[in-house]
Amino acid sequence: MAEKIHILGAGLSGMVAAITLARQGREVLVIEGEKKLGGMHHDMPSVHTTPIDPAWMSDQVGIDVTPAFHPIKSFHTVVGNRKYELNPGPMHAIERGSRKSGIDKLLYDQACEAGVQFEFGTFLKDLREIPLGSIIATGLDARMYDFLGIPFEITRGFAGTQKTDREPWAAGLMAPYTKDYFYANCANNLMYGLFFSRGQVKIQTLEACKRDIKEKFDLELPNWEYFTGRVPTGSARNPRLFHDGYVLAGTLSGAMDPGALFGIHGAILSGKLAAMAVDNPERALEEFKEMNKYYRISYYLRRFFSRIPGRLAVMDFNMRHPLFSYPLMALTSVAVPGYRKGIWNYEIMKNAKRIN
Ligand SMILES: Cc1cc2nc3c(=O)[nH]c(=O)nc-3n(C[C@H](O)[C@H](O)[C@H](O)COP(=O)(O)OP(=O)(O)OC[C@H]3O[C@@H](n4cnc5c(N)ncnc54)[C@H](O)[C@@H]3O)c2cc1C
Repeated sequence: MAEKIHILGAGLSGMVAAITLARQGREVLVIEGEKKLGGMHHDMPSVHTTPIDPAWMSDQVGIDVTPAFHPIKSFHTVVGNRKYELNPGPMHAIERGSRKSGIDKLLYDQACEAGVQFEFGTFLKDLREIPLGSIIATGLDARMYDFLGIPFEITRGFAGTQKTDREPWAAGLMAPYTKDYFYANCANNLMYGLFFSRGQVKIQTLEACKRDIKEKFDLELPNWEYFTGRVPTGSARNPRLFHDGYVLAGTLSGAMDPGALFGIHGAILSGKLAAMAVDNPERALEEFKEMNKYYRISYYLRRFFSRIPGRLAVMDFNMRHPLFSYPLMALTSVAVPGYRKGIWNYEIMKNAKRIN
């Protein structure tokens, strides 16, 4: 059997790749920059939302990830000044970070059981320190984008957390002061909110967002921290499984929806494909292309909508007339890499009720 496989990054895609390869009898070393599990989310556990069928996903990657996903029980969204109650559909909350209740710990335990070795606290800046053919799964961190010359956009924002007793709940807010949105969700007694934009985020806009979420969702988050990361939406050609002799996985590989930036679904699936690429690069590439085949169209749609002046009016029209916007929603729903379980955004919006 060939030499040890090196994987850079103990996040979602890195650990899925590691588990898959170790179970095939490979010797696997995962190198992680942070001193503990949870990557970018290690010191501030967070809750994210994604459309997913957890049982289907578990089947695809051969790892039972179902305990980490919590079906959203209620879902509200605000577009401009209008608030709607949505059908949660396939939306699930998932915790990231180093706590026992998060997916990072679930994958880490599986990886240890499969015999994966971990080296924490080594932030690689130069890929020459690991062999060609290694798997690079470094998520939204800037360094590997620079090192590999991968086109990106910068996302900036503020995240806040709070303890809660609520059942899994999600809320979204689209406002004129962000090119993206604010979302909040909760699971495992943790409420998490993220206000972000692929544009400038000023303190004043954070204050406007805080006022809006207090008024619309009665939500106050005490601890806001600045956050920035890179997303692979810098070019329509971005999704790439191989680059400069390395195998890419997760968000760095472009396995992210360029519209709403859903990255969890694609990261988990791409971990499996990165592992496959070690022995069967042709088949892995074929499956990778299939998974990301709607990236380009979604990329151009997002660019178009981010430039038109009436973005919020269009969103509001979609809420009120989802059938009319069905073709558009069909295109954007499959932009979540590998999601082929129906038109999830139509499902969410089809019975939207305006509540004020
Ligand atoms: C704040 C935030 C909120 C998000 N919300 C959502 C959401 O609600 N829904 C959704 O679908 N997606 C969301 N995403 C995106 C999603 O989390 C990512 O796309 C996904 O986690 C990427 O998985 P990955 O495997 O590529 O990387 P990650 O899971 O991020 O793991 C990358 C790992 O690599 C390590 N690393 C980085 N550089 C180096 C280096 N040079 N050397 C060693 N180690 C390194 C990092 O420390 C980290 O542990 C969010 C992302 C962030 C940051």
